[in-house]
Amino acid sequence: MKPVLALVGRPNVGKSTLFNRLTKSRDAIVADFAGLTRDRHYGDGRLGSRHFIVVDTGGFEPDSTTGIVKEMARQTRQAVAEADVVIFVTDVRSGLSAQDADIARFLRQANKRVLLAVNKAEGMQESPLLAEFHELGLGEPHPVSAAHGQGIRSLLEAALEDL
Ligand code: GDP
Ligand code: MG
Repeated sequence: MKPVLALVGRPNVGKSTLFNRLTKSRDAIVADFAGLTRDRHYGDGRLGSRHFIVVDTGGFEPDSTTGIVKEMARQTRQAVAEADVVIFVTDVRSGLSAQDADIARFLRQANKRVLLAVNKAEGMQESPLLAEFHELGLGEPHPVSAAHGQGIRSLLEAALEDL
């Protein structure tokens, strides 16, 4: 069974850009995974000889009765439940937000391995701005640039370690 990596985070931090980077596809279909629900994007990824499934969240319109906040929370919960590893994506350029703190609180209780990716960090690998992400209590932040392909390999190696 391939490990499942879920990408969670508030809107606009770069989850879908990271998904495309990890899967090298726009919208892969994963037909063979019974039990994975259909309202999220699944893609196949590979690091060397290791194959994995990536789950993107947040790319779907909420219906008018649930609203965006509830819908995000629902998708995050479901994606986390079916994941082996969670990649929590944040954005160094907009900084930490209350929404990040809420998601972090949920993830700390979720009893899953969580990696903290700090995206949009191109040219900022040494930035003191990264330090504040420690406050989320999810370990060492991994600076990445989904758009420019930086830090991705090291994030993936950490994500797939021990799986
Ligand atoms: P999502 O809502 O979390 O799925 O975020 P998207 O992947 O749709 O990206 C939101 C915005 O951030 C888009 O304008 C992306 O081009 C931009 N973005 C994503 N990754 C990076 C990055 O590594 N660096 C920069 N500077 N912008 C990025
Ligand atoms: Mg998206």
